[in-house]
Amino acid sequence: MRWSEHQIAMLREMGVRLWPAEPETSVPHAALPPAERAADPVAAAPAPRAADPVARAASPLDALDWPALRDTVAACTACKLCESRRQTVFGVGSTRAHWMIVGEAPGEQEDREGEPFVGKSGQLLDNMLRAIALTRREDAEPAHQVYIANTLKCRPPGNRNPLPEELAQCEGFLIRQVQLLQPKIILAMGAFAVQSLLRSTEPVGKLRGRVHRYQGVPLVVTYHPAYLLRNPVDKAKAWDDLCLAVEAAHGSV
Ligand code: URA
Repeated sequence: MRWSEHQIAMLREMGVRLWPAEPETSVPHAALPPAERAADPVAAAPAPRAADPVARAASPLDALDWPALRDTVAACTACKLCESRRQTVFGVGSTRAHWMIVGEAPGEQEDREGEPFVGKSGQLLDNMLRAIALTRREDAEPAHQVYIANTLKCRPPGNRNPLPEELAQCEGFLIRQVQLLQPKIILAMGAFAVQSLLRSTEPVGKLRGRVHRYQGVPLVVTYHPAYLLRNPVDKAKAWDDLCLAVEAAHGSV
């Protein structure tokens, strides 16, 4: 497989080192697309699928379209986070996107700008997405677009960890976003997002590497970009996760 200079630059940006013994245009085996991994019986084995842990419960939110849902989120006072937020952070990207990225909660900058992942971790996220030809920009083809949302729509004060009751209160909004978007794949980033969506207490390291389901949609788990900025050695694993998500989005695992 030949990689463009642009893709190689993106892989470098993510900290994915190319095999020293291979020419510059090779990537680690795990990063190869499915067709090229098929020769290796271990790599080609389909990842085990998990059951969807969250049954879809009927909710008044089910009747809302995108604008009504956004307005409802903006007016939400269901938990104390409404007292300290500057604004709610609903989501960004095309509502026709095939990919959905789910992060944890807005930080300071997101609370100020009203858009998810606009800080340093957002820059890394955008670079990771660019490496697999995805963008949050709304002028791309749906197959190349992502819609980005968080499990919490309001910033926890001082960027503290989300509380279980806050996650539970807010989840209905995310479920409705998933219902409206009907993505082909969800990429869940970070322990709080992942554990809350999958009803699990397992660490990200244990949950990654296989395809889960959320609201009937294939879901792949990966590290949060903020974690990757602190632990760049794990960027190669995040690259494997992106490759798994590409396969799952194409229905090949
Ligand atoms: N971290 C997240 O999980 N979401 C954001 O929007 C910003 C940082």
